[in-house]
Amino acid sequence: MVTLGAVLLFAGTASAGEPADACQPCLAFDRLDKQIRDGRLPKAEARRLFAARIADLDTYLARGNAPARSSGRWVFPLRGYSIAMAGADAAKGYVAAGYDYFDGNRHGGHPSFDLFIVDRNRDSLDDRGGQPVTVVSMTGGIVVAAEPAWDEHSALRGGKYLWIYDPVDHLLLYYAHNRDLLVKVGERIEAGTPIATVGRSGFNAAKQRSPTHLHLTVLRVGNGRPEPVDAWPWLAGAIVLD
Ligand SMILES: [Zn+2]
Repeated sequence: MVTLGAVLLFAGTASAGEPADACQPCLAFDRLDKQIRDGRLPKAEARRLFAARIADLDTYLARGNAPARSSGRWVFPLRGYSIAMAGADAAKGYVAAGYDYFDGNRHGGHPSFDLFIVDRNRDSLDDRGGQPVTVVSMTGGIVVAAEPAWDEHSALRGGKYLWIYDPVDHLLLYYAHNRDLLVKVGERIEAGTPIATVGRSGFNAAKQRSPTHLHLTVLRVGNGRPEPVDAWPWLAGAIVLD
């Protein structure tokens, strides 16, 4: 017999306005990521909450909510581009020293790869056809944070960005400076799923001197602490989509 109390308890697990099957641990991670980004939490508290949110995500994904397992080979994140076209010099841009995820928008270092599209007139469109360039997910995962809003008065460095959690390898992948986001927090995606279009959003990325690019960061979170990963070998060996 299901009692009224049990029904009310169940109904109380989703907040108003969200579908009952929304990934609540994803929404919770998104809220925490924005608090850390904006420097609204003491670091010790942020570290404790981060480990708890990752544990909640792992529990949620272990209950049959996990995305399809990655093939083991990554997909290059710019459709129609290879590493030779977009990132011949990108390996030089990877600087893990000085980076701390918990520094948020004020972080140092650049544990990241900048992958450039052909856009001489800086209009975010591919000069070879006048169309936006599609960003695809490199791995299977679930969207755990997103910033769909940005304007030129914002001090946000990442602009319109996505954080995607790959539970197989315990990685967080950050795709920044997008023009438009094509997925929302809580969506499960596979390697090769379109997630955004390349843009110029972000405090520095929007400046005329900045060539149009995708900024990609990979962090490993296996122990509950985010540590930068040099993803160059995965990028260099990635499957290229037309
Ligand atoms: Zn960058």
